Amino acid sequence: MECKKRVYLDHAATTPMRPEVIDAMSAVMSDTFGNPSSLHREGQRAKKLMEEARESIATSLRCDPQEILFTSGGTESDNWAIKCASWRAAEDDGISPRNGIITSSVEHPAVLHSCESLEKHGLKVTYLPVDEFGLVSNDSLVEALSPETSLVSIMFANNEIGTIEPIVDLCRVSHEKGALFHTDAVQAVGAVPVEISDLGVDLLSFSAHKFGGPKGVGGLYVRKELKLPPFLNGGAQESHHRAGTENLPGIVGMARALELAIAEREETGRRVQVLSEKLMALLKEKIPNVRFNGHSTLRLPGIVNFTVPGADGEKLLLLLDIHGFACSAGAACSSKDAKTSHVLTAIGLSQEDAASALRISIGRENTEDDIIRFADALSEIVGK
Ligand code: PLP
Repeated sequence: MECKKRVYLDHAATTPMRPEVIDAMSAVMSDTFGNPSSLHREGQRAKKLMEEARESIATSLRCDPQEILFTSGGTESDNWAIKCASWRAAEDDGISPRNGIITSSVEHPAVLHSCESLEKHGLKVTYLPVDEFGLVSNDSLVEALSPETSLVSIMFANNEIGTIEPIVDLCRVSHEKGALFHTDAVQAVGAVPVEISDLGVDLLSFSAHKFGGPKGVGGLYVRKELKLPPFLNGGAQESHHRAGTENLPGIVGMARALELAIAEREETGRRVQVLSEKLMALLKEKIPNVRFNGHSTLRLPGIVNFTVPGADGEKLLLLLDIHGFACSAGAACSSKDAKTSHVLTAIGLSQEDAASALRISIGRENTEDDIIRFADALSEIVGK
């Protein structure tokens, strides 16, 4: 099959950087090399750009600038939130420290493995099950919460199947039991409305490369009344919370990317949703017995996860790649350890069906033609 151009359908893994973001970062890299901690003019110019970026991100996410702390991305933000909120709780309450964490079985490995590392230090972790659509139920959280629970961490939207969790309700019941609430909003920020002032969460992770920004930079929202211990020790950067000279080009690029993503979110969301629906309709028509994974309405507009019964998802992925299409057979972060997806098995798929799944994640630059060509290519490959 002749391929005209490559079609990128893996935006949940990462997004292409926007030209406006590259321009903003190039300007910083060529003109503003100062260290934001230096007192001279070069340093202060860098500091000013960094604080403007913090203000812009806070405006985009509806919180105060001092509540935004810069990190190296979603993984660091998740590690920080989970480890530090748990240490804080253990320190706070001398006699009967709260030493329990509640999370869900469909979280990203950055959350799951952070929890596992705390389990090795004696903390008790509860992994809540999800229903067939990937939803955590309020009732199961209420049942699991106890006076020992220090932190609840439930993702805003799932990176494999796109299911959006009922964060406001889950956060409310956690607070009623005195637990802190963290959400990994790495897939949600820029794709659906994420307005922290309405959510009530204590901690929220985000990452620039998921919304048209650069890799290796992200942030953690920390509610201002919350005093977290520092994650990285060293200099006084990020109000003594996260030592290390800041990634100024990355921070400026992230702020620009978020401004653009928020300004265009509604229109892009509508377009991407139409393309997702078109893709699902074509797959139903062309692929015998195709089954869709995740929730039909409570989901990110761009993620379509489906099982092609009897197929090997990884082989499909490689053949699609040869035909010019980039997609994923599961989460990119775990694709090197050839295990079946923990998310798909958590929603009840057999190992076999989970191994036959593909994740297509549509982004702002995709067109209807991309979707039609993808569906044709997949049906031809499956037919063979
Ligand atoms: N959390 C979720 C839900 C993700 O999808 C990802 C990346 O795929 C991460 C965390 C990790 O983010 P980063 O790649 O910025 O470390």
